[in-house]
Amino acid sequence: MSRSMLMAALALVLLAGQPAAAQTAGKVQLHWYGQAAFKITSPGGKVFMIDPFILKNPKTPEQYKDLDKVGKPDVILVTHGHFDHTADAPALSTKYKAPVWGPPGLADTFITLGILPAELAPRMNKSGTVQPLGAGLSMTMVRAEHSSELRWVDPITGKERSFPGGEPVGWILTMENGFKIYHMGDTGLFGDMKLIGEYYEPDLVLMPIGGHFTMGPKEAAYAVKEFLKPKHVIPMHYGTFPPLKGTPDEFKAALGSQTRTKVHAINPGDQISF
Ligand SMILES: [Zn+2]
Repeated sequence: MSRSMLMAALALVLLAGQPAAAQTAGKVQLHWYGQAAFKITSPGGKVFMIDPFILKNPKTPEQYKDLDKVGKPDVILVTHGHFDHTADAPALSTKYKAPVWGPPGLADTFITLGILPAELAPRMNKSGTVQPLGAGLSMTMVRAEHSSELRWVDPITGKERSFPGGEPVGWILTMENGFKIYHMGDTGLFGDMKLIGEYYEPDLVLMPIGGHFTMGPKEAAYAVKEFLKPKHVIPMHYGTFPPLKGTPDEFKAALGSQTRTKVHAINPGDQISF
């Protein structure tokens, strides 16, 4: 037995005796709460919470509908102002003193309405890359084809009003080990997805497939085959509300068998690591 084979065998023996948490150490871990809400833990243990819609999310399993159990995120990211992407962001941010990164127009609205203090609503814009968690972890803001309004209940009148939420965005997250995750936010099909695919080369794409407000299964399959060509896709933003009719089965059927992309059709509440 060569030295490298011996080391590999030894590693296997050691791993076999470890609890599950230790086996996922060094990997990227994702916890899906349904809709577009993901908690992503980097290989180095930093926590990103994206589009937190948890407490009133009809697809979030009951045992996870508790901001204490969500735990402290190091950063919160939002893709646009709609309630099914921002609902729990202000509460999580103020509870854990974690900044909310999102479209600058949405940050302005958060600040001017007094929803968040300026230090918890930092500003950046599309194509910008920031590294608030250190040099090994990057967050890049990219385009999405959608809209972004923020509805807010005026505490004086008690009436709901609509405010500008900037332009919608997607996020490219680069982990310490180079693994790249593209959270598309809510988006329709657009040609510059090809540019995003070529330039950033995401390994894993979190992709809306529900239709009505975003791409449906056919558009999403086209984006995978023609534009993004990732190794992995997790379908999201379907089934939460009646109009979001697209399903992972329709998405897989539209994708066909001639693809190198692996579709991970997980359920809300599931965790997966890469
Ligand atoms: Zn939306």
